[in-house]
Amino acid sequence: VRIQASDVVTSALLVAGAATLYGEVRKFEDNHRRKERLTRADGGTPHRIVIVGVGFGGLAAANELGKRVGDDPAYDVLLIDRHNYHLFYPLLYQVATGGVEPGALAFPARTIARTHGFRFLEATVERVDPERNRLETDAGPIEFDCLILAPGSVTNFFGMADAQQHALPLKSLEDGMQLRNRVIDCFEVADREPEPACRRALLTFVVVGGGATGVELSASLSDLIFTALLPNYPGIRASEVRLILIEARGGVLPGWNPQLGAIASEHLQRQQVELMPNTTVSHVSESGVETGQGISIPTATVVWTAGVRAAPLAASLPGDHGRDGRIQVDEHLEVPGCSGIYVVGDAAAVIDPNTQRPYPPTAPVAIAAGQVAAANAIAQFSGQPRQVFQFRSKGDLVSLGRGSAAADIFGFIFDGMAGWLMRRAVYLVNLVGFRNRLSVVLDWAFVTFHQRVIASFGPEAGRALAPEIAALRESNQRQAEQRRAA
Ligand SMILES: Cc1cc2nc3c(=O)[nH]c(=O)nc-3n(C[C@H](O)[C@H](O)[C@H](O)COP(=O)(O)OP(=O)(O)OC[C@H]3O[C@@H](n4cnc5c(N)ncnc54)[C@H](O)[C@@H]3O)c2cc1C
Repeated sequence: VRIQASDVVTSALLVAGAATLYGEVRKFEDNHRRKERLTRADGGTPHRIVIVGVGFGGLAAANELGKRVGDDPAYDVLLIDRHNYHLFYPLLYQVATGGVEPGALAFPARTIARTHGFRFLEATVERVDPERNRLETDAGPIEFDCLILAPGSVTNFFGMADAQQHALPLKSLEDGMQLRNRVIDCFEVADREPEPACRRALLTFVVVGGGATGVELSASLSDLIFTALLPNYPGIRASEVRLILIEARGGVLPGWNPQLGAIASEHLQRQQVELMPNTTVSHVSESGVETGQGISIPTATVVWTAGVRAAPLAASLPGDHGRDGRIQVDEHLEVPGCSGIYVVGDAAAVIDPNTQRPYPPTAPVAIAAGQVAAANAIAQFSGQPRQVFQFRSKGDLVSLGRGSAAADIFGFIFDGMAGWLMRRAVYLVNLVGFRNRLSVVLDWAFVTFHQRVIASFGPEAGRALAPEIAALRESNQRQAEQRRAA
């Protein structure tokens, strides 16, 4: 049999024609099904799905819904957030230490909504009314047929009002900028401060909480302080500066593979971070920290990275709330007794069947839960079976500053440059938007080949330290009087 070129072309055209026809039939069927669904929805109105929060969980839910029902007229999807951007928390410590500019971590929520054909509303949700399937917001009430709640978490001060008042949290872009300004301002004021005790206190920086955020922040603060700031302040000696990391449990990175904890401790100590394990903070004031072990540390800068609790909005839902305020949801991520209300991310407590404990409040857990909640929201309307949430961690990664990081990937430990490259790759893969990725890469290049940002600016920069300095002076005077009396 001889096959001629014209036969090949004809066959190709036939196959292409058949494929096009098949595609058109599928499109027709899909549209038909959509119309059916639309008519089946109450009074012909679309199913109203509302996502609260465009953090990791809410964004993952939006992306999944976009894949499944983006532009489908049978669904009306609304994203709500009090900010009009998605914030990439994992690099917040680099904003606080002059490594990355804040704008690079924020991605516009409206772009996310537009990409999928959804709507976006910038509003603060004050309460969920599960009885009436309604949200009370500062922009008025909003009704829903299905709710995916992803409001995240807030800093957990464990009921210590003094810590809440005087310690700096690291939970927003503003927090990151405030911390960067504080550290730089402390150097400026110490440089002109004649009183040695006050100078030393201004140059003492305390981080409370030796989890991943505390470790990454301490390592990066060490880079900012000892590598970037000190050479620019010839009047300040390295011996005058202290960077302290306090952890209540036995060592840093509690709950992680102990090998990573050991690597992190070694790195931090090499980077002049004083580790204080088995130490609890009992009091925080403008002039310092007191520990439960009777140690007093005069300082103007205490950063609180000791844990998180569910966002206050979670409290408006009924059911079990753990000590950290997280709502216990079932295996479909639905709040028991509240049909069609799913909670994902840091605000949800989903029990890991392997450990019988809630999954940790991390970005990968929030992302995986957001995807499952979105699939279950659609299943609720299409009558398909819902998915059961299961999560398997691929491992842990922690940056240790100065071109180093430690990683535990499926039980294999990496550190040094290999870990650092992995950590940086994971940041870039998870950052949203080309512009943000490029900005971060350029900022990293500047830090590596040129220098960090070592100027403080913003509305409070340079003026924020007055109460701390007054309190330090007063405390020094009191101590001097006590010494004289003794
Ligand atoms: C400094 C820092 C570093 C971190 N580093 C890592 C890391 O390296 N790796 C990792 O896995 N995890 C990390 N995490 C944890 C991770 O960021 C969280 O687990 C994750 O963001 C949880 O996702 P979420 O969707 O539940 O909440 P979030 O991402 O916090 O999003 C919640 C959203 O809800 C909005 N919102 C809250 N309340 C309301 C309301 N009442 N009305 C309207 N909108 C509201 C918020 O504005 C926000 O946009 C870090 C966290 C912090 C703070």
